[in-house]
Amino acid sequence: MDLKQYVTVVEDWPKEGISFKDITTIMDNGKAYKYATDQIVEYAKKVGAELIVGPEARGFITGCPVAYALEIGFAPVRKPGKLPREVISADYGLEYGKDTLTMHKDAVKPGQKVLIVDDLLATGGTVAAAIQLIEELGGEVVGCAFLIELEELNGRDKIKGHDIFTLMKY
Ligand code: 5GP
Repeated sequence: MDLKQYVTVVEDWPKEGISFKDITTIMDNGKAYKYATDQIVEYAKKVGAELIVGPEARGFITGCPVAYALEIGFAPVRKPGKLPREVISADYGLEYGKDTLTMHKDAVKPGQKVLIVDDLLATGGTVAAAIQLIEELGGEVVGCAFLIELEELNGRDKIKGHDIFTLMKY
C-alpha cells in the first residue's frame, strides 16, 4: 500500500514555513491505519520488543495498537504535570528554549526490551529524550519506529547507535 496518499501535507501550519504532515487521514481510514500498524508490529517482533513506549499524543495513536496486537504493555511519555505518580524527567532542546518529558518511575522494568513508537521523526529531540528516560529506568531500547521521517532535519544523528524503522520519508 502507498501510505503517502493518506498523509495530508498542510503548508504553513502551525506557523509559516512549516510543512506539517497530518497523519489523522491515515488513522481515519481503517485499512491504512491497520496497514501502518501491521508494519510496525512486524518490526516490533523482529527486534523482540517487550514493551512499547510512545510520546504524547500521536505516539499513543501509533504505539497503542502495536502493543495491543502483540499483547505487550504500553507506557506513555508525557509532558510535566500529566502523570499522577512519581516520575523521572528529561529535558530536550527546541528551536527556542527547551521542553521536558516525563515517565512514571516504574514504567519500565530493568532489562526490559523497549520499542519507541511515534508518528514522526523530525529533529530527534523527542525520541532522544524518551531514550534517556527509558535507559535511566534500566530499559534496553531495541528500536525506534515512526510512520514518517523528515530526512532534512537529520533526526537520526541525535540517536546514533539505535535501530530506526520508518514507513515514509519526506
Ligand atoms: P522532533 O522532536 O523529532 O523534532 O519532533 C517530533 C515530534 O513532533 C513528534 O512527536 C511529532 O508528533 C511532532 N511533529 C513535528 N512535526 C510534525 C509534523 O509535521 N507532523 C506530525 N504529525 N507531527 C509532527
